[in-house]
Amino acid sequence: KIEAKSICKKFDDLEVLKSIDMTVDEGEVVAIIGPSGGGKSTFLRCLNKLETINGGTIIIDGETLVSTDENGNVRYADNSSRIACRMGMVFQQFNLFPHMTVLENLMEAPVHVQKRNPAEVQKEAEALLEKVGLLEKRDQYPLRLSGGQQQRVAIARALCMKPDIMLFDEPTSSLDPELTGEVLKTMRNLAEDHMTMVVVTHEMGFAREVATKVLFMADGYIQEQGVPEEIFGNPKNERLKSFLKSIL
Ligand code: ATP
Ligand code: MG
Repeated sequence: KIEAKSICKKFDDLEVLKSIDMTVDEGEVVAIIGPSGGGKSTFLRCLNKLETINGGTIIIDGETLVSTDENGNVRYADNSSRIACRMGMVFQQFNLFPHMTVLENLMEAPVHVQKRNPAEVQKEAEALLEKVGLLEKRDQYPLRLSGGQQQRVAIARALCMKPDIMLFDEPTSSLDPELTGEVLKTMRNLAEDHMTMVVVTHEMGFAREVATKVLFMADGYIQEQGVPEEIFGNPKNERLKSFLKSIL
């Protein structure tokens, strides 16, 4: 479960996130949509501490990652890195290690960061590759794979860390259209397994069909949120209406 309250993030004078509130319950799939430059990526990066916030509170499964007192002092928990590690992240660019095979990519962090037993990790890594349909590519190097295959490896690699929550930042937007389907299917399977997910996406079909809740982010705020039927079928916010017109 994610509870984010009044999240503020500035880059120098640029206030990217003015006050963002979001709650993601266990097993929920939250889709974040909105115009380019609206702060969607920044928000995801704040959640798992790739960026530090300038104000607000983030609580992960009841544990406070960061909080802000009444004087505006932001304080990260001593174990904030460990809390952030409960969230796996998949980026637009797959960010695989090019000099490692697919299997080595999956095993790297669990073995060297989490210090888990290599033989056990290998078994789990192979099971995850099987799940994303790429077990036969286990000894291949990433650059020999298609973009869609690389992204599925990136998803399997994030899952190999045993995250409780998965964050996706436009996982299909650098893929050719014919390759997006296989990645969306992998994400759909994850959702069916009740993985808690936050997905920044331009794939309105995915948001409509898989998301339990859709958030429209623009100008540093969540302008509107609701179930997909409401957001797409009966939008109220004027910015959301024109955004939907521009993309559909
Ligand atoms: P897109 O849909 O194009 O991916 P986005 O909603 O993800 O857009 P962000 O990438 O979060 O938007 O960027 C929000 C704003 O913050 C932009 O104006 C961007 O230029 C700015 N920004 C992001 N990262 C930094 C940084 N490290 N330093 C300075 N400004 C930044
Ligand atoms: Mg982005």
